Amino acid sequence: MRTLALLACAATASAVVPAASAPETRAAPPPCSEEPRENPISEFTSYDELLVELDRIERVSQGRVAVDAVGESNRGRDMVLARAGDGPKVVFVTAEIHGNEKTGPDGILDLLDYVGTSGSSEAQRIRSELTIVAMPKINPDGAALDRRGNDMTWQEVQQRFPQLAGAAEPWNYYTDQRQGDDYAHRPGFDVNRDYHPDLDYEPDPADFPGDSAAPGWFLSPETRTVRDVYTGLQREFGDVDTYIDLHHQGACYTVAGTDRLVTMSLSGKFVQDPAAQGSGYARFADGFRQDYSKQLNVAAYDSLQEAAGRNPDFGNITLYPQDIDLPGTGLGAFQLNGSGAVLFEVRGQTQTLGERHREMLTESVYIGLSGIVSAVASGEVEQLDPADYDRIPPTDRGPETGSRVDIEQ
Ligand SMILES: [Zn+2]
Repeated sequence: MRTLALLACAATASAVVPAASAPETRAAPPPCSEEPRENPISEFTSYDELLVELDRIERVSQGRVAVDAVGESNRGRDMVLARAGDGPKVVFVTAEIHGNEKTGPDGILDLLDYVGTSGSSEAQRIRSELTIVAMPKINPDGAALDRRGNDMTWQEVQQRFPQLAGAAEPWNYYTDQRQGDDYAHRPGFDVNRDYHPDLDYEPDPADFPGDSAAPGWFLSPETRTVRDVYTGLQREFGDVDTYIDLHHQGACYTVAGTDRLVTMSLSGKFVQDPAAQGSGYARFADGFRQDYSKQLNVAAYDSLQEAAGRNPDFGNITLYPQDIDLPGTGLGAFQLNGSGAVLFEVRGQTQTLGERHREMLTESVYIGLSGIVSAVASGEVEQLDPADYDRIPPTDRGPETGSRVDIEQ
């Protein structure tokens, strides 16, 4: 049974109670709410449906898309990877590391379908300039449970890494009730805090319990598989030009200074500049490309603003909070390793919105992904002004607790 959310949202806090004389036939729409509920989610692509759909795209693409299992989740589900194009630049895209964030896989399927099957000159250019490497469900156990964390106990981790027998339980290990999900009976980890910028790191008991500002440990088969794919691409291509990770955030945020609900927030900043005094990551300073991350985000933002002409929702794009330092996220770790990095934070996880607005939100992911892929393939991304990134409107999150950022990205 789902529990009530502790967090109220701005819209409810400031809602005006309609006058008693207001005609009942024109009742105001219900205020936005972050309260967990049991909305349907069946229209999203399930794990089994994903395998079927990838197989279909692979066949229809006539060799332009290749699909492989590259690892297994903790509960033994294949982790699948699709590769499209044979160009010299790599665009690596991952989604659903939080299993209740489900527009990413569907947006990726739409992109693979287009790049793999279209005969348009643009698709041909993308295939010849880029190698798109996509992992649409990198936490398949969490996705099957429709929850943020994976399905793994600390005891399983300690069996896998005997050196951790006496280590303190990690800070990102869930054993309680959260977001309406019961981790007490089926514990799990926030695996998007399990990455480490040193990609050959192995778990060391001295590094536990850790915290949000520290790196993770590659404890999970899920993060180790993504890490192995990334380092394999480094060996093959020299570097991974672009890394995009697809997420969801709160359902009730507004574009600052307006009452428009945010469709998606973007970000290209996940860690402190490694060249800054005391960053702790000076060894990564040479390859760090903050401006390139900004340019990639501008490419996504511009394509969404262009689409706002046919649906204003696509214009409601904001900047994700920039005062974060998360080296244990995939984006933080891979950005330090020299990738231009982009975060999509789509409106509302499944516990708040279910499949409501699914088509529009999935299309916003597709538009943003397409904008980035087109700009990188054409080289136009290099002409974009990184300062435009800083002009993306901020997000108004309303009253919130200080830990809100930690439970999203
Ligand atoms: Zn997320």
